[in-house]
Amino acid sequence: MIIVLSSTATPAQSDAVLERIQSLGFRPHVVRGEERTIIGVIGDDRRAEPAQFENMPGVDQVLPVLRPFKIAAREMAHGPTVVQVSPKVAFGGNEVVVAAGPCAVESREQLFASADGAQAAGAAMLRGGAFKPRTSPYAFQGLGELGLEFLDEARTRTGLPYVTEVMTPSAVEQVAAHADMLQIGARNMQNYDLLREVGRQKKPVLLKRALSGTIEELLMAAEYVLAGGNSGVVLCERGIRTFEKATRNTLDLSAVPVLKEWSHLPVVVDPSHGTGKRSLVLPMALAAVAAGADGLLIEMHPQPDRALSDGPQSLTPEGFADLMRRVRAVAAAVSRTL
Ligand code: PEP
Ligand code: MN
Repeated sequence: MIIVLSSTATPAQSDAVLERIQSLGFRPHVVRGEERTIIGVIGDDRRAEPAQFENMPGVDQVLPVLRPFKIAAREMAHGPTVVQVSPKVAFGGNEVVVAAGPCAVESREQLFASADGAQAAGAAMLRGGAFKPRTSPYAFQGLGELGLEFLDEARTRTGLPYVTEVMTPSAVEQVAAHADMLQIGARNMQNYDLLREVGRQKKPVLLKRALSGTIEELLMAAEYVLAGGNSGVVLCERGIRTFEKATRNTLDLSAVPVLKEWSHLPVVVDPSHGTGKRSLVLPMALAAVAAGADGLLIEMHPQPDRALSDGPQSLTPEGFADLMRRVRAVAAAVSRTL
């Protein structure tokens, strides 16, 4: 449940509410707004009775949060959350943030060519995996630490912050020491140890929807990170597994407005993994921005035919520049910038 304090509540009244929450075995989540403070009662709140708070001095309203996620719930914030990645880049504001780059970091040259293409076309961020979750254990698994070093160099070269995947709890510290934003891949959306570990550190998190994850499960995964104390979570729709074979995954664009209705967290769309096909990336990117996405994750490779992973869905730098031009027009049509 959520306790809304009245605008005239005194600090002592607010403290009394916090104390009662704790004495009942819950954890308070305090969100101070300009006018009002809201306090989430975090824990298994089936045991909490609104009457235990309703008549306390300084309490204006007690509202139930009907869905199982709490800190991620829209009611738990005063408005959309803005997740700051760097001084210039933030998800959830008026700007649509485009992160572009290769599926995997393959070499310094390949990454620099991608980063230069991303920057020239106006991308705000670079993407690229150093640790790759591959379906086959025999497929290229990424360059690991060396990949992170190349990403650092690409950031210095272009000024673009980057997002890269972290696959295991034990690697979180290592990846967080380099990256501007940590990606939790679709295959790890319900790796609760990993979610807890990224929740304990400060870098923002890009959380991808699992291949068979419901929207509610995605938000429950976000809840793990938020409950750990990291408020910088960006949700990513990247396609789900359905019976349809024409596309690699079925990009569920309705997830964008659903997530916006249910949560205050920013939402981005990955039309590359969402479709698996280069020709479909542009139309779905345009549709995603029209549907209200706060950002896009786009795979781009200097030579897609030679890519060690996800070549068929990777744009060329020219294709990406074209996408940026067209996305800019759609962003303007929905009163957003790029
Ligand atoms: C990726 O972004 O390169 C990736 C592996 O994505 P996903 O986890 O969505 O498959
Ligand atoms: Mn990929």
